[in-house]
Amino acid sequence: GGASSSGVKQQVKLEKESELRIEVGNDAPLCLRLLNGNAEIFGTELAPEIWLNFPPRLKFAVFTWYGATIEMEGTTETDYTADETPMVSYVNVHAILEARRTRAKASSSGDSESSQGPRVIVVGPTDSGKSTLSRMLLSWAAKQGSKPTFVDLDIGQGSITIPGCIAATPIEMPIDPVEGITLEMPLLLLHAIRTLKANVVLVLGQEKLYSMLRDVLKGEPKVDVVKLQRSGGVVSRNVKVRQKARSFRIREYFYGLLNDLSPHSNIANFSDLCVYRIGGGPQAPRSALPIGAEPVADPTRVVPVNINRDLLHMVLAVSFAKEPEEIISSNVAGFIYVTDVDIQRKKITYLAPSAGDLPSKFLILGSLTWLET
Ligand code: ATP
Repeated sequence: GGASSSGVKQQVKLEKESELRIEVGNDAPLCLRLLNGNAEIFGTELAPEIWLNFPPRLKFAVFTWYGATIEMEGTTETDYTADETPMVSYVNVHAILEARRTRAKASSSGDSESSQGPRVIVVGPTDSGKSTLSRMLLSWAAKQGSKPTFVDLDIGQGSITIPGCIAATPIEMPIDPVEGITLEMPLLLLHAIRTLKANVVLVLGQEKLYSMLRDVLKGEPKVDVVKLQRSGGVVSRNVKVRQKARSFRIREYFYGLLNDLSPHSNIANFSDLCVYRIGGGPQAPRSALPIGAEPVADPTRVVPVNINRDLLHMVLAVSFAKEPEEIISSNVAGFIYVTDVDIQRKKITYLAPSAGDLPSKFLILGSLTWLET
């Protein structure tokens, strides 16, 4: 591992059904191209001879079905070839899903059930490769002309938007191997999740979870639970690495993957903004409840928040809502980062992806803080 040093070109010959696993070095990007044969990165085929630029710390694999030669230039933290991968079982899942899509398309009955494509949910422990498997299934489907919708329920290390959020996006082409999923059109989130009645459950790398789910879902004949092996290439990330990845992800939202975006610093009066928190405190005081009843926190309750120094370094979502009542069912337009709160002058300074007015004065406070480094 770590054999390639800066500026030195290195060629790697891959046998059929093997992959080159790479962790890009910490300080500099890595350039890579396909010299001959066919190869893909998490389901997306590489164009021949085109140099791709991978940012520092990215972990990925270049897989080949029939053999390929890869050329790299730059520094890697590790790079090694593996010929034992679960890719055949993954592509079999794809083939079954594709057959179901074809059947749904051909279905002439007006019955909405049979004319719908499969709804798949990928589950498994942390670092089992859930995001990666989803990405491959999406890219393979898109390559065959389908338009799967991806709903990312992973609030810790999601692939679509910033940490702490859930998001959905339609995938129309294979996912970019360097940039990942670009956010084009988030759906109405709650609606998407309520209607996500999965009929295929893919369980990655955990026997216990698999048998549990299989038992629970036994009564439901329409749900298939499939056990899949975890790839040996999935890189485990400890708490520190996860925190760092989250922090980079927020930085990337404002500054771009390659520092190619220029966010704007804006100033607003306290009176121009309304900050809300979702969930929290019990709805009714104990005294207002029947004897013996416990007050419960309503997770969908929208609570106004005072603007004060507590907002410093917080990431706030900007809602599309026009009224506070709409906040819970509205999408967010994007995010701002609070860089200063001036109590005396009642002004708040924040970083936004672009200049100009925010699309709404309704901001949502989560628990996401970020220390710009
Ligand atoms: P989490 O529980 O944190 O959401 P996850 O189960 O979704 O994790 P992934 O994000 O898919 O796991 O994978 C973890 C890391 O391992 C990612 O950085 C991914 O790019 C990397 N990875 C996955 N498969 C491979 C592979 N075959 N070779 C090299 N790196 C890989």
